[in-house]
Formats: sequence, C-alpha cells, structure tokens
Amino acid sequence: MVARIIPVDPFDLVIFGGTGDLARRKILPSLYRRLADGQMPDDARVIGAARSELDDSGYRAMVREALEEFVPEARRDPEAMARFLECVGYEQIDATGEAGWARLAARMGAGRVRAFYLSVGPGLFLPLAERLHDHGIATPESRIVVEKPFGHDLESARELNANLARHFDETQIYRIDHYLGKETVQNLMAVRFGNVLFEPLWNSQYVDHIQITVAETVGVGGRGEYYDRAGAMRDMMQNHLMQLLCLIAMEPPSRFGADSVRDEKLKVIRALDEVEPADIVRGQYEAGPDGPSYRDDVDDMRSRTESFIAMKLSISNWRWAGTPFYLRTGKRLRARASEIAVVFKDAPHSIFGADRGRHRNLLSIRLQPNEGIELGVTIKEPGPGGMRLVDVPLDMSFAEALGPEADEIPDAYERLIMDVIRGNQTLFMRGDEVEAAWAWTDPVIAAWEARGDVPAPYEQGSAGPEEAQILMHRDNRRWREIRA
Ligand code: NAD
Repeated sequence: MVARIIPVDPFDLVIFGGTGDLARRKILPSLYRRLADGQMPDDARVIGAARSELDDSGYRAMVREALEEFVPEARRDPEAMARFLECVGYEQIDATGEAGWARLAARMGAGRVRAFYLSVGPGLFLPLAERLHDHGIATPESRIVVEKPFGHDLESARELNANLARHFDETQIYRIDHYLGKETVQNLMAVRFGNVLFEPLWNSQYVDHIQITVAETVGVGGRGEYYDRAGAMRDMMQNHLMQLLCLIAMEPPSRFGADSVRDEKLKVIRALDEVEPADIVRGQYEAGPDGPSYRDDVDDMRSRTESFIAMKLSISNWRWAGTPFYLRTGKRLRARASEIAVVFKDAPHSIFGADRGRHRNLLSIRLQPNEGIELGVTIKEPGPGGMRLVDVPLDMSFAEALGPEADEIPDAYERLIMDVIRGNQTLFMRGDEVEAAWAWTDPVIAAWEARGDVPAPYEQGSAGPEEAQILMHRDNRRWREIRA
C-alpha cells in the first residue's frame, strides 16, 4: 500500500520557545520528517524565536543536535537533513519586551501561510499575541498554536480564551491535544463511522461498559513543582482522557468537519453526570525499586495531590444511559500502555449452556504501544472435544495490516502541525470544549478538597491502589490488565 503524500502550501512557521524541550523533542523532529517524506515544501521556513542569544547558524547547530538525538537513525537522511536546516532560521526575541520584533516582522514572507507555535508557558500567550498584532506580523489568515496546560481551572481557561480572542478569531486558534493526532484515535472514528458493523451496537443496549486507561511508568520527574499543583485530574483526565471519552461516546457528526465533530464532543461533556465521591479513587505512588515516593519527588511530605485517578462516569443521554465509563490514569504503573476497551454485553441467550457469560465481544483500541485495534470474538476451539468456545482476537494492528509502512506512520505532532498548515481544526480543541471540560472538572476537585480527601498509597509497578480494583469489583467487572 503506497501512501499518497500531498505537499502542503509554502509556509512560515515561527516557534516561540524554539530552544525549549518540546521544540527540540517533538516540533522540530516532526517538521524534519514531513520534509523528508515530501510533505513540507523546501521553500517553507521554520523560524525559532526565543530569548537565547543565537544567530541562524547557531540555531541550525542546535536543531541538528536535536534531530540527531530525537529522530531514529534509520529515519535520518543526510541530504534531507541538509535541506531541512536550510529552511531553519532564528530570531532572538523577548516575549515581554520589544527587542527583536521588528527583525522578526521583516523576515515574514508575503503570500504564504503564517503560523505561530506558542511553545511557551501560558503566561506568555497574551504578551506574544499582543506583539504579533502590534508589529503587524499576524494577519487575519495567520494561525496560532497553543499547548497544554490550557488553564488550571475554568476561570483561568476563560481568561486565556479571552486574551487570545482579543487578537485572534476562534478559526485561527489551534489548541493541541496530541492524543487526538494519534493514528488509532482517528481510526476509531473511521471504524465507528465508516462501517455499518459497529454503529448499531454502539449504545447501552449492547455495550456493557467502556474502559479508558492511560498508564505511565515514569514518575513526575523534573516536573514536580508543576505537577503537584495539577495532579492526574488536571494534567491528564481533564484533557486527554476527556477527549478520548468524547470521541468514543459522541453521536455521529453530519460530516468530518471541524465544527461538526467538535459540536458533538461538546454535547458529551455537557451530558456528563455529577460524579459521586464513592466513584472516585485517587492514589499516590510509594517509594519503590524504581525511585522515591511521590511525596519525595515533589518534595512535600504532606502533599495530597494524586498521581493516580480512577473514576466511574455516566453520560445522561439516550445512547448511554445505563452504560458506565471507567477511566483511569496514573504514573509509576506496571507498563506504559493506553487503551480504550469497549466491552459488549453477553449474548442474550447461550445455546451452549455452561459457557454462557464467559465469553464477550470486546473492541480494544490501543494507543500505545503498538497502535492498533483488536476485536475479540468467540469461536469454537479447533479440533475434537465437543463444542468448546474460545475468545480470539481479530487483530487490526497497523504493523500487520499495512506491512512495513506501519513504521512510517507519522507521529501525532507531525500530523497536527500539517493540519495547522492546511487550516484543518478538526483534531484541535475549541475554546468552548475546553471550558466545558473545566466546568465539569472544577466541582469534582472542589468537593474532594472540601472533604479533605487523602490519596491512597500504591506500589510502584502496580495497577494503582487496591481501591481502584474495588471500584470495578463492586460492579462485578474487572479492569483490563495493564500490559505493554
Ligand atoms: P522549556 O522550558 O524547555 O522551554 C521554554 C522556551 O520558552 C525556551 O525556548 C525559552 O527560551 C522560551 N522563553 C521563555 N521565556 C521567554 C520569553 N520571555 N521570551 C521569549 N522566549 C521565552 O519548556 P517546554 O518543555 O519546551 O514547554 C513549552 C510549553 O509546552 C509549556 O507550556 C509546556 O507546558 C508545554 N508542553 C510541553 C511538553 C513537553 O514535552 N516538553 C508537553 C506538552 C506541553
């Protein structure tokens, strides 16, 4: 299967924070790969902008190092790397001062797509937006890309939205959630809305429950100060897991267009019921062989911030009334694994007697590792011995379905940055969606803070605290195993 790559229009992309970790690890390697694949035209320009004292050649040396570190060797082509570095330039600017802005303005080309990637803390969004506007750098067609965290609560998210709206129209704002750029997540929509097979079963009549797991093996690392103010609820649940929940639960949009899709996602968030305290489990990892405890990591022995959260949610609409959604995410867990599992109900009547209830269909959408979709079906165990049933997976791993090309699947950032250049907002969060997610999150956090809730300790390398298992067992269900 040969993928057809359609080059995007020539563009100028300015990366504010162009010397930072995200630029080096994700943004620049992604752009290089798009150029190497023939999607980014050679006359596109990537301009790093940050406070460091660098010139074009100093920045190119930094970019080369970043590519050598973060692009796998097999994907590094000296000729393509040279062409990419030709596209790269640098401007020293201060987001909160005036130095460098006139030079940046003079660099911008005419008649090209302009995009500004704000790979900096949210405190710099407004000063940057103002200067882009005041120096005539942003045009009405320009696009602006912003990263998480988009606010800390509803009030701060509203303020960020209002600040951006002073200078940019909503159609120009691209709020990135890189989970939405993953191949499987888009495939989830293809599977749901491109086949007649699934949609008739996609409701509480046939679906017993849905599980969403995003498990990490790492601890909070060097982000302790930020993380301890956020916790798993703000850092992961409010954005990544909520977005996955929306895609799995939304009604079919009328077309695969930005507003049609985002309207449907918004309705899901608004239909979420209030969460009972008994339906929330928060945890903190203890010290273990792989590292210190959460409290040591954040240097606060009294911290009540959760490094793990599991919740049972329900959606009040005709499609989902009666089908629970179990979501969990945490750090220092058994494996790095993200999965959405749609667990179907038992067959209404088993003609096979004793086997009744032991076999269930299951659709598993794996986000990492090994992106792919697996449908569990029940068949007869081959060979003699009577009618014995066995569950086997119908595996739609991209590696097998698409052959060696599966390795070439673009990283989420590659796709999302190209979508920005193409002007396609479908996989980006709209301002009202982000606000609705915070409007749902805030009271949940306020309630546990008012109760003085203390997270339950859990062992590193486990599946989280025991209480999370009980959350499921109580309903006669089990979590899927967390495995790499
Ligand atoms: P970083 O601290 O490594 O880099 C920050 C960049 O901003 C540097 O290039 C710095 O020079 C520049 N900068 C800071 N103050 C400036 C100013 N006044 N004027 C001009 N430039 C200034 O941060 P990062 O890890 O690259 O993260 C950038 C943003 O992306 C943050 O908001 C972060 O939350 C978000 N983010 C990062 C990651 C990641 O993996 N690193 C993942 C998701 C979101």
